[in-house]
Amino acid sequence: MNYYRDKKGRFIKGHPDFVSSEKRKLMAITISKSKKGYKMSKVHKLNMIKAITGRKLSDKHKENISNSLKGRFLKEESSQWKGGISKKPYNFDFIQELRDKIIKRDSFVCQLCGNTQDEEIEEFGYKLNVHHIDYDKTNSKENNLITLCRRCNSIVNKDRLGWMKYFKKRLNWVKTAREKLKKEFNVR
Ligand SMILES: [Zn+2]
Repeated sequence: MNYYRDKKGRFIKGHPDFVSSEKRKLMAITISKSKKGYKMSKVHKLNMIKAITGRKLSDKHKENISNSLKGRFLKEESSQWKGGISKKPYNFDFIQELRDKIIKRDSFVCQLCGNTQDEEIEEFGYKLNVHHIDYDKTNSKENNLITLCRRCNSIVNKDRLGWMKYFKKRLNWVKTAREKLKKEFNVR
């Protein structure tokens, strides 16, 4: 039994934390006022829905949110474009799928130093990175993506123009080589 609380669990009069009913009303008004004009972000909403319901979102729902986020990032980034330095887009499932696809295309090997995915996981505890060749994170065309390890990923942040040229050349070379192999030996 708690002698300094009433039936509803509130502090009784005389207790230092006692709140009168008038003060409680005033607090309610202040809180509702401060919440006016407060807009939840889509991600926030999504997290709330998840937290409250514990339900998983349908793929369609996820796709809708992803698309609207993509639109927003494109807008933000084109207006504040600083030579390719951009905020990371949100990592929803479809982006992860694309990353996995690129890493698989590049045979689970860093295309600069040859570190393998297994070595990377052992060393850093992460999968290999997928690098945007033109440094524009909204350009997720497959010919703009290449697999790099963490170390190389930080290296290519210097001399960006040089690396851009290098990777473009390299991907073109790989593409031609693959096509040649396909024709000559009928392999994929
Ligand atoms: Zn590397």
